[in-house]
Amino acid sequence: MTHAGKLRSVYTGCMVGAAIGDALGKQNEGVSRKDILNKGYINDYGKAPEGCPGEKLSAGQYTDDTEQMILLAQSLIECSGFDAFDFATKIAHWGAVAMADPSRKELVGPSSSSAIAKLNSGISWKESGSSLPSCGSAMRAAPIGLFYRNLEEVEINAALSSVPTHNSNGAIAGAVAVAVGVRCAIDGMALPEIIKESSARASKYDEGFGDKIVLSFKIRDEEPDEVFARLGTSYLADETVPSAFYCFSRYFDEPEKAIIEAVNAGGDTDSIACITGALCGARHGIGAFPERWREGLENREFIEHIAGMLYEKSM
Ligand SMILES: [Mg+2]
Repeated sequence: MTHAGKLRSVYTGCMVGAAIGDALGKQNEGVSRKDILNKGYINDYGKAPEGCPGEKLSAGQYTDDTEQMILLAQSLIECSGFDAFDFATKIAHWGAVAMADPSRKELVGPSSSSAIAKLNSGISWKESGSSLPSCGSAMRAAPIGLFYRNLEEVEINAALSSVPTHNSNGAIAGAVAVAVGVRCAIDGMALPEIIKESSARASKYDEGFGDKIVLSFKIRDEEPDEVFARLGTSYLADETVPSAFYCFSRYFDEPEKAIIEAVNAGGDTDSIACITGALCGARHGIGAFPERWREGLENREFIEHIAGMLYEKSM
């Protein structure tokens, strides 16, 4: 493969990987680790069980995580960079449509829904963000790491991209860690360097957050049961993001295993697996994912197209 071909493949791999993780993980969203172990690991697409937020979606269909990630990518492409007003306008419109749709309204998280209501009532994006440190801005942040090639710019724009919906230190640190992790993986950095860079930049916004990214790497050889209990798997950014970094670190050269571990972590599995998928795709490229996952994903060609445009416009 040419250098350009390889680079395009990590862009598409990152966004398609995130969508694959999300679509697989929705089957366990809100399910406890104990219940997952009782019924056995999920490793292929299927419907989410009754009571899960994504119960009305079909197999291979992704959730709000990927929808928001696509919006962020489209905004970056249209504005030739991150524009908070444009992105907030897109989120507000998307949210109004999603929350009026019976099959999707349960998917929108607490911070996003409160921010969407505020934005749609005319409140500025500077004031609309929730103070709850949930993971909604981390789960969608990958395109920032694709668009910007300079780590300083990745960090600053990832932080800003969180503000319209998630304006807390923990959530901002989460968005920074994910976007920086994606850029470092694309650049082919070794795992300890990826961890060091992601945690150091996240620490500027929330020191404890950065420490937890380092911890997720240090305990990567410990068993998932103990690690997920220790790191946490709730929708809080300082649980989902470190748990995703653990899956990525534990199976650094085995992306399929990394995603399966994330899908079955318990708790906010769609977001944990979405972030894991973005990191794995950014490192390995789209060819690293099994064909059954690529073929079964809804809108795969559209997501590849968007990722290709981010590649063309990246700076
Ligand atoms: Mg979701």
